[in-house]
Amino acid sequence: MMKGDSGKNIPAIGSGMDPVPRTWKWHQSNCALARLLSRHQRVLNKATAVALEIRREIDELTPLMTELCRRTCRFCPEPCCITNTVWIDFRDLLFFHLTDEPIPPCQAASDPGDACPFLSHRGCRLPRRIRPWMCIKYICPAQRAVLQKKERPVSAALCADIQKIERNRLRMEVEVIRRIRRKIRTSPSSSSACSG
Ligand code: SF4
Ligand code: SF4
Repeated sequence: MMKGDSGKNIPAIGSGMDPVPRTWKWHQSNCALARLLSRHQRVLNKATAVALEIRREIDELTPLMTELCRRTCRFCPEPCCITNTVWIDFRDLLFFHLTDEPIPPCQAASDPGDACPFLSHRGCRLPRRIRPWMCIKYICPAQRAVLQKKERPVSAALCADIQKIERNRLRMEVEVIRRIRRKIRTSPSSSSACSG
């Protein structure tokens, strides 16, 4: 089974899943983002509420996605976790930080043809909530075929749920950027710095 399983044990940073310089950069970038969000925490209530909504929506998707994986991944001749290149994007990171989810120990991106660093023989080691969104929402052709055999409202509802999460991810990002920009513009230290 590939994509469908989730394990609980995420290796600690620098435990050998990824070359050290890449992991170090990843760690530094996440520390910088954590510091930025923490500095502006007071204006990020709305963004955090949207992130929590996204988490609830992802949790609601999970049973159906898990079922699809259970029915298809074990027999897959070309597992997507090896053939596709994925990565944790900025919205994923915002989501993890705003909801206090654990941060994956390295970026998911792998070289073309190499397996994703989170792939184990039992499938994905990341809990579904902290997988890249592009992995969570991915429905491969085999899974589409399974969906087509289900009642029409099931797949229509799934598509609608995925689109709703897409919209909320955009809302969350826009809200974070807008609030932080506004706060920087109006803070006394930034105006004195600008006025020299
Ligand atoms: S391509 Fe489909 S069946 Fe194969 S591992 Fe990926 S999700 Fe599972
Ligand atoms: S994070 Fe990697 S192993 Fe997990 S589902 Fe995505 S591609 Fe597969």
